[in-house]
Amino acid sequence: MNVVNLISKKRDGGELSPGEIGALVEGYVRGDVPDYQMSAWAMAVYLRGMTVAETAALTEHMLHSGVTFTWPAGESPKVDKHSTGGIGDKVSLPLVPLLACCDLQVPMISGRGLGATGGTLDKLEAIPGFRTNLSTAEMQAVISRVGCVISGATADLVPADRKLYALRDVTGTVPSIPLITASIMSKKLAEGLNALVLDVKHGSGAFMKTLDQARALARSMVDTGRRMGVPTVALLTDMNQPLGRMAGNAVEVNESVDALMGKGPADLMDVTLELGVELLVLTGCESSQVAARARLEKAISSGAGLEKFREMVAAQGGNLDAPRPVAPAQDVSSPRAGYIAAIDTEQLGRVIIELGVGRKKLGDVLDLSVGLEMLVRLGDKVDAGQPLARVFAKPDAAAKVKPDLLAAISIGDNSVKPPPLIVERIA
Ligand code: URA
Repeated sequence: MNVVNLISKKRDGGELSPGEIGALVEGYVRGDVPDYQMSAWAMAVYLRGMTVAETAALTEHMLHSGVTFTWPAGESPKVDKHSTGGIGDKVSLPLVPLLACCDLQVPMISGRGLGATGGTLDKLEAIPGFRTNLSTAEMQAVISRVGCVISGATADLVPADRKLYALRDVTGTVPSIPLITASIMSKKLAEGLNALVLDVKHGSGAFMKTLDQARALARSMVDTGRRMGVPTVALLTDMNQPLGRMAGNAVEVNESVDALMGKGPADLMDVTLELGVELLVLTGCESSQVAARARLEKAISSGAGLEKFREMVAAQGGNLDAPRPVAPAQDVSSPRAGYIAAIDTEQLGRVIIELGVGRKKLGDVLDLSVGLEMLVRLGDKVDAGQPLARVFAKPDAAAKVKPDLLAAISIGDNSVKPPPLIVERIA
């Protein structure tokens, strides 16, 4: 392999063969291709893009750079969900046990938050004792006993992504749709899935700000999943305001428990159930969307979903019934009457990071007890002095973030139509 030729071919807009991509990825993981050549190649991809075939080849070679899960034949279908992330996005917590109540198994490998789009592992660590660092063998054992598990990536899982992502992070090549696709899909498909559903968010609190960008990423990931033999569907969902009411770690676990008791906010319930519906239909467990939704709703009303969550938590060393401390609450009130016209959700993300919900840099220690509860939604009519949000933090920390929190919520004179929550389905 002549790496310079491969870089030049991509720089000039050519299409690399699966063999060329494989040689590059394998050479990089072995250490034969140095960082400076891989950076030049990643920048060429960023500028020139990749075809669906190239993206699938990159995904495939990355996924086979480490261990992959294999499952005995005849077991329940294995499924998972990936979200591109957003403020208050706690969907995995209620969704995973609900799916496990419906004859599906969920070997979810999840991540930590860097920035405001909190990580599922951080939220789960607000449950006393919960372990997020299971070995591959431990994950497999929990799956066969409970039917679902949520843990972090082990060092031997997709090492190509770990190395390439760290390089992209420092070379301005993160926001490339084919590179994001291969990074996400290699990690998900290494779980040995029968079906995958994607929640691709757009809006002020999302990685993808516009619907067009979200649609392009969803299309790329769905095409790659399907090309690799894993039925994949994406829902494009709104992130112009937080999902649910709570944003934080312990407070999001509490809201997830409420959701499993059938008392979750309507938007959280809707996104959770619709993603679950897709997986039940994709795997053939249910023949219609209506029947799939009814089955998931029954898992909530019967209490089976909450019991499954408690069981998964216990299998991972945690105790769902132990207290999860939440910092004292203080309300932030509206300076005027009017209508909630816009929410700068990214700004809300900065507010919660300031409180200690998320990390400013790798290795920061989080405060799992702090957070935010949104008391209003886009389009709501509010009176002067009405509480807009509740901050869970020490009083001085809450006072410090109050101006930024108020600045994130725009109040206008005219009523506005709230944006649709689930905008489009990409199959
Ligand atoms: N998340 C990932 O896992 N990889 C990316 O490239 C971007 C977001």
